[in-house]
Amino acid sequence: MKGKGNKRLIIVSNRLPVKAEIQDEVIHFEKSAGGLATGLNSLPTSYEKHWIGWPGIYTDNNETEKELDLSLGSYNFHPVFLTEDDMENYYEGYSNSTLWPLFHYFYIYTVHSDKYWQAYKKVNALFLEKVLEVATNKDILWIQDYHLMLLPMMVREHLPSIRIGFFLHIPFPSYELFRTLENREEILDGLLGSDLIGFHTFNYMRHFISALARITGIESDDNMFHYGNRTLSVDTFPMGINYDSFYKASKQPEVKRFTSSFRERYSDRKIILSVDRLDYSKGIPGRLEAFRLLLENHPEWIGKVSLLMILVPSRDSVDRYNDLKTTIDELTGNINGSFSQPGWIPIHYFYKGFSFNELTAFYHESDVALVTPLRDGMNLVAKEYVAAKAKKPGVLILSEMAGAAIELTDALLVNPNNTGEIAAALNTALLMPEKEQKARLTGMQKKLRKYDVVRWAGEFIDKLEKIHLRQRDLKRKYLSQYQADEIARAFMKAGRKLIILDYDGTLVPFVNDPAKALPGTPLKELLENLSGTEGVELAIVSGRDSDFLESALGFLDISIFAEHGAMRRVKGKWQSLYRKDLSWQPEIIRIMKEITDNTPGSHIEKKKTSLVWHYRSTDRWLADLRAAQLINILIYPCTRRQLHLMRGDKIVEVKPSEYTKGSAIRNFFNSGDYDFILAAGDDTTDEDMFDALPEGAVTIKVGKPSEKSRYTVLNSGELIRLLSSFQK
Ligand code: UDP
Repeated sequence: MKGKGNKRLIIVSNRLPVKAEIQDEVIHFEKSAGGLATGLNSLPTSYEKHWIGWPGIYTDNNETEKELDLSLGSYNFHPVFLTEDDMENYYEGYSNSTLWPLFHYFYIYTVHSDKYWQAYKKVNALFLEKVLEVATNKDILWIQDYHLMLLPMMVREHLPSIRIGFFLHIPFPSYELFRTLENREEILDGLLGSDLIGFHTFNYMRHFISALARITGIESDDNMFHYGNRTLSVDTFPMGINYDSFYKASKQPEVKRFTSSFRERYSDRKIILSVDRLDYSKGIPGRLEAFRLLLENHPEWIGKVSLLMILVPSRDSVDRYNDLKTTIDELTGNINGSFSQPGWIPIHYFYKGFSFNELTAFYHESDVALVTPLRDGMNLVAKEYVAAKAKKPGVLILSEMAGAAIELTDALLVNPNNTGEIAAALNTALLMPEKEQKARLTGMQKKLRKYDVVRWAGEFIDKLEKIHLRQRDLKRKYLSQYQADEIARAFMKAGRKLIILDYDGTLVPFVNDPAKALPGTPLKELLENLSGTEGVELAIVSGRDSDFLESALGFLDISIFAEHGAMRRVKGKWQSLYRKDLSWQPEIIRIMKEITDNTPGSHIEKKKTSLVWHYRSTDRWLADLRAAQLINILIYPCTRRQLHLMRGDKIVEVKPSEYTKGSAIRNFFNSGDYDFILAAGDDTTDEDMFDALPEGAVTIKVGKPSEKSRYTVLNSGELIRLLSSFQK
């Protein structure tokens, strides 16, 4: 099974795209043609495609399992066998009674149960076993949906260099809801095993980034995360449909048969179509209320408009779904009882699933589609309706809480909780001129044609491949032991050597109170020994002011640059390297003060030549808002006064533009002739310094990797280990 020549793409999802059944001791398979399967089938044939998932059948018979394994294996399907107990606690339990309601904002429906959680972990581990049987480090693994959120990290621990993509098909909720989940850290940690995490919309991605930062402290760099020595990315990929098959459906003879019987049945009555799986997230009772309101507010539609409601049975073994069904049945009965007339009933109600041909006929013939979920990751029905209309007019009324609303902006968008608004939209839709209906549909069809399911799958895999390449480049920058030894050897061999080090984040970690970031004894000894080594010139280049640097490092006989190179200490004396003019400061202080007064946890630092607004202890959302506001206000005065405005690690700094760490260093090393130069720093101001150094210099970024440095080390501890090795 493992290690064939072709590039292998392995999909992992709760279910396989086939359902196995045993009849008269013979195994039968029924293919399910979901959107995902279509998207994946369309991926280039250069991929050898495999699929791991539950085959839809319980068996405790080893022989049957073997037989299933073998027959499914011939199609590259790899079954994971689950017991009824697993399904009850992992699938109906943690997946559908904990994650599903919470992620759809049904907080009070969320069940917190340790039994469910244990089953979820157990089943994710069962999937891991199968992945390890099938996959190698060279493959691409694409894990689907909320049932398998622990799997990415489980796999990563066994197959460190495999490419892992994860796609969430449901919403990712706001942090305020997500934080209520008992196992929130484990879920996030599980996802972090991926290289790429995909969401339908940027809102879900935004919530994920926020939850990750607030719960784990891992901050994003745009949409990248640096986690340990790995970089992972998050992005949006709105799932499309198999556009052509829906657009062309009405031309198929089998579909035509259904469209004519539809017309015969409903003659010239207007039909409002509603299609959903039975689920409380779909907002079906509210939709029925809105229809009732339409008939009450606009009795002129009585006898002329019917609602065709299709409810596909789903999870009906769960009590909550049963109760919902009863509510819907009662409401429907009630409305039909109140408004029916001879020869006309308001609601035609079907509790069953329809085939593609029947469904597309309904889509094509209905005058209005009413899609009003209270929350929906995407909602494919809305997209399918628009596509299946082809050239026929029709109106889509769509909930703004569905992921599809981001793309389908030409629909009549409604708040699904506002029945009055839905009823009004229904009236508007029924009265909408045909020309407008067609114009709106054409606009939406254009988008759906362009971003169909084929493109969705293709873009995800493309992005995953690109991230993998980028990761490989960045990973190469992480200093290996071999490279560290080489650098130490070059240092020993060289005659004159220059070492330039930044201070905060490079030699000492960040702390909440910057005054407390003082060097400990081992660091002091290291710097003292280094500076005393023959042929070594040691320089510290920091953004800190001279008073702090004097107190922290004044005992050393080295060059120290303060305030990004505005001041330099030579032979124990501080010199200003630029023409000091502080007339710009009062205006900037006034602006910074106003922001500080409105931002708890922030403060202003007045250095000798610059001003810094610090926000390390401020809530990150507020800090981001205030930093953006501050920068906006500062842009004009800084331009007018030729000041340099920069955003650093939890700071906004304003300084005269005449000098940078780069210019300070350029003057410095030009005065010497060195055989070995090493510079290390942790932020963008240090990158100025790297840029200023000659090509052969050893430049080291501490923390996140950077394009500007030759090497990266994870933290100051690693840098100190390297510097210590220079003394052996
Ligand atoms: N569907 C179907 N037969 C039916 C009703 C619906 O095959 O009788 C399909 C429909 O074509 C759509 C899917 O079920 O592709 C529902 O997807 P959606 O994203 O709208 O909702 P979900 O059920 O995934 O929450």
